[in-house]
Amino acid sequence: MPPRRRRSGPPPAPGGLLVWSSSAHWSDQARPCRYCGKLTHLRDSKRSPAHKVCAEGALAEQQQEAEAVYRAQGEL
Ligand SMILES: [Zn+2]
Repeated sequence: MPPRRRRSGPPPAPGGLLVWSSSAHWSDQARPCRYCGKLTHLRDSKRSPAHKVCAEGALAEQQQEAEAVYRAQGEL
């Protein structure tokens, strides 16, 4: 496997993509998760209701899709 080139931007948070202990990811009001529809107090990086596992799964999927596009374009 070739070494992965890092793209510019902030480094990922230790242990994951988002820092879920931050109060920015918490709301007092439970709302339906944007991914699975079950109620959650958690918010994603855009303040949309989302469970940690749902948001991180979606982020991982987006990353894989982006990598697939870059790979198809010969940029990876
Ligand atoms: Zn969910």
